[in-house]
Amino acid sequence: MRKAIPYGRQNITAEDIQAVTEVLQHDYLTTGPKVNEFETKFAEYIGSKYAVAVANGTAALHLCAMALGVNESSKVITTPITFSASANCVRYCGGQVEFSDIDRETITLDINKLREKLEAVPKGTYEGIIPVDFAGYPVNMEAFKTLADEYGLWIIEDACHAPGGWFTDSKGEKQHCGNGNFADLAIFSFHPVKHIACGEGGMITTNDEALYKKLLQLRSHGMVYQGDDKLVENHGRWYMELQELGYNYRIPDILCALGISQLAKAEKGLKRRRAIAKKYDEIFENTNVRTHVPEVTVGHAYHLYVIEVSNRKELYDALREQKIYAQIHYVPVHTMPYYKALGNQKGDMPLSEDYYEGCISLPMYPTLTDEEQDFVIEQVLKHSK
Ligand SMILES: *Cc1c(COP(=O)(O)O)cnc(C)c1O
Repeated sequence: MRKAIPYGRQNITAEDIQAVTEVLQHDYLTTGPKVNEFETKFAEYIGSKYAVAVANGTAALHLCAMALGVNESSKVITTPITFSASANCVRYCGGQVEFSDIDRETITLDINKLREKLEAVPKGTYEGIIPVDFAGYPVNMEAFKTLADEYGLWIIEDACHAPGGWFTDSKGEKQHCGNGNFADLAIFSFHPVKHIACGEGGMITTNDEALYKKLLQLRSHGMVYQGDDKLVENHGRWYMELQELGYNYRIPDILCALGISQLAKAEKGLKRRRAIAKKYDEIFENTNVRTHVPEVTVGHAYHLYVIEVSNRKELYDALREQKIYAQIHYVPVHTMPYYKALGNQKGDMPLSEDYYEGCISLPMYPTLTDEEQDFVIEQVLKHSK
């Protein structure tokens, strides 16, 4: 019997297991030395000054929105083609979310459409934007930063799909997704289908020291601890002070140990993802299968490998018959009942909706074998129109 082939999966090795069991024998199960170590190593990998590890990617988004002061009077713009958490984080803080349509080639926020949207209303209407490096395609954050500065907007880069991805800036330099040079804050997820698996986990990266400190405080209830000059009073060594309403969004040491071990293999995994993508690209060229081959100026991180076909449902079902579990990314967020109830409707974002009609994500993960990929390709070609 052929093994099931999912669209994405984790790769847990003997070293990963050892790293976790070692922590279990030490003093700290939650907040301990592995948290700091993971943060430092992750910041180094991404190229940011600071990193804050949190419970999951959604918690990371929520804390970012809080740290940037999103509230009932805030209006924030994001893309409809993303996981709903990219939009929900604004709602958690009571703010309003608006959507702006995608670039049909990169399937990320179209900067020209965004500019038109900003130009159509008085400056100050919007507070921030949340671009998403969809599927691992690196958004040109330099261009978005220029636009954001013009309109006084902050940027949260949702880089969940793109650790290790990069674009080329106007000086010809590689800029890694989430490196903090352009976006105020960036977030990552360590859900098992993402590049680095912790089970659950997330990370926020930034180059802004004030935001960094705020995030640390919000991650742990909003509490200020001994040794912090922000303490208003100090009754003794036991004393800590609740200064703001935060959450328990901490990540256990156990999971950080797994994250550190996974991070050491990230580049190798990324290389394999790119090789898998190259093969799909080459074979699907000049067939019924529409691919999204990236420009040579970007390093795609390939969390997903998305194709478009004219008979998507048929293909999805045919692959399923063969135990190839492709997936759809994403049902446009603005068409979800929750966001419809807030005033959005089908027809608002024609390019996102057009993309959704034909998109399907094929198996893409480092341990996908050549033989498995060949089988996927054979089945896709056989069943696509
Ligand atoms: C996975 C993901 C998230 C949320 O991450 P969790 O760790 O599952 O909470 C947010 N945004 C995008 C684009 C994602 O893919």
